[in-house]
Amino acid sequence: MADDDLLAPGFTTDPYWWDAAPRPSANTEPSAPAATDVAVVGSGHTGMAAALTLARAGRKVTVFEADAPGYGASTRNAGYVGRTLYSKFFKLEKTFGTAKATALAREGKTAHDYLVDLIEREQLACRYVNCGRFIAAETPKHYDHMAREFAALARHVPTDVTMVPRAEQRSELASDRYHGGAALNGTGAVHPGLFHNELMNRVLSAGAAVLGHTPVTDMRREGDSFEVTTTRGRVRARNVVVATNGYTGTATPAIRRRIVPVGAYMIATEPLGAARVARLLPTLRTMIDTKINIYWARMSPDGERILFGARTGIDDGPLETKARKLRAHMAEVFPELAAIKVTHCWTGNMGFTFDLLPHHGVIDGVHYAAGFCGVGIPMGSYLGHKTALKLLGERDAATAFDDLPFPTRPFYNGNPWFLPPMLAYWGVRDRMGR
Ligand SMILES: Cc1cc2nc3c(=O)[nH]c(=O)nc-3n(C[C@H](O)[C@H](O)[C@H](O)COP(=O)(O)OP(=O)(O)OC[C@H]3O[C@@H](n4cnc5c(N)ncnc54)[C@H](O)[C@@H]3O)c2cc1C
Repeated sequence: MADDDLLAPGFTTDPYWWDAAPRPSANTEPSAPAATDVAVVGSGHTGMAAALTLARAGRKVTVFEADAPGYGASTRNAGYVGRTLYSKFFKLEKTFGTAKATALAREGKTAHDYLVDLIEREQLACRYVNCGRFIAAETPKHYDHMAREFAALARHVPTDVTMVPRAEQRSELASDRYHGGAALNGTGAVHPGLFHNELMNRVLSAGAAVLGHTPVTDMRREGDSFEVTTTRGRVRARNVVVATNGYTGTATPAIRRRIVPVGAYMIATEPLGAARVARLLPTLRTMIDTKINIYWARMSPDGERILFGARTGIDDGPLETKARKLRAHMAEVFPELAAIKVTHCWTGNMGFTFDLLPHHGVIDGVHYAAGFCGVGIPMGSYLGHKTALKLLGERDAATAFDDLPFPTRPFYNGNPWFLPPMLAYWGVRDRMGR
């Protein structure tokens, strides 16, 4: 569709991040090995973090990736490095009681700290900034709720937050759309494409092999090992780690039945100039709002553009159409961007779970970490590492997620047919300021 007022010259449906960190186009491994200690399925942050820990412990590790390495959500996300779970503290407390809720919420901070330490220790050049986050309240009720919830959380988990009333909101955001918000310190952002490239380089340096364009199509337990079938041959593996999250397919049906893939969408504006971006986001924090069908916005790492996301889960046509809708939502937040051209519009799959919590463990002898519910940069990396520790039999492998059942639903096989009506319902609740 020709859309002269919308699409900048060179418009692409590849993620903005791939400009600086293109996906490797060719496979560097000549063939699949006959045998490996650990077959890691999926090459995002989760698979790579697992592979790094395993390879450093001396295991022969082979990472299998259906597409180009890092093709999934790990190089398609917004780059926010948060310190909370998708499930907020009051909900956790209601479901599990205060002690377990605290242990689970603490894992959000632990995952954040693990990731920041990994970046520093490994010197990963991924434009990490400790910028903080502004959580914009959609309604006055949301503002009050957030203030109470953060106060409760702070009593149990170190949390540095300042509530910003609506009258002062423009100090955070050049917008009158919201009803104030929470300025959360101690959260950051990365360039996810560079983060993935850097992590993969450490994995390769540690001696692991990464086989792109090599989907795993089946795996069978045979005695105390697995026969892993790939499109480039069969591999005997002593252990398997599945790290396919929102892209989990039929090769691992037990995990697929427990993950709900949810498409998420983003645009990049044409370069706006650093001064203009700094006017729109004066503190340069990342921004997200409190709707269920959320909006989020951040500056690009070079400070020149706004990267904006919305319409999560709503599949409404080609990405060119999506770009127009996203730009309209962006203009609700920043009216002056209503006529800005868009250079990139892309999508990726998040992996949600029925209890809205991440999970890791062992199913049918297969280790897995999945279901990060939109916070997988820290949580996927952390649980990938913990999964590796578990496989290695290390004592500090335990997490607060260990004793949670990994729920599914009757007749659910991985096809989320219920999402469109559910999202329409949530959209109405958002509009009513539920
Ligand atoms: C638009 C968007 C914005 C997001 N924003 C954020 C954010 O700001 N902060 C945050 O923390 N999280 C965010 N997320 C979520 C985050 O990106 C994910 O939780 C995280 O990347 C998951 O990493 P992963 O390694 O588990 O899975 P992925 O990176 O999705 O990797 C899974 C890989 O498995 C491969 N695969 C699947 N099946 C097979 C098979 N049979 N054989 C071989 N390979 C296979 C896939 O091709 C894929 O590459 C966002 C996600 C999206 C889509």
